Amino acid sequence: MEECPRCGWPESEAYEVLSRHLTSEGVVTYTRCACGEVQVRVLRFEASPVTPLHRTRPSGASG
Ligand SMILES: [Zn+2]
Repeated sequence: MEECPRCGWPESEAYEVLSRHLTSEGVVTYTRCACGEVQVRVLRFEASPVTPLHRTRPSGASG
């Protein structure tokens, strides 16, 4: 969890939401902290981590 470098306000709790835009990468949200610091955060669509496929059986190995 990250906090505001100026006042230590947690970024998880937006003090005031200025605007919100929908982009190709995700939702860009402009928030203003309690101290007046404007922050920009991007909420990506792919929230779940990508799990690689494991292939344990070699192809063509028989006998
Ligand atoms: Zn702050």
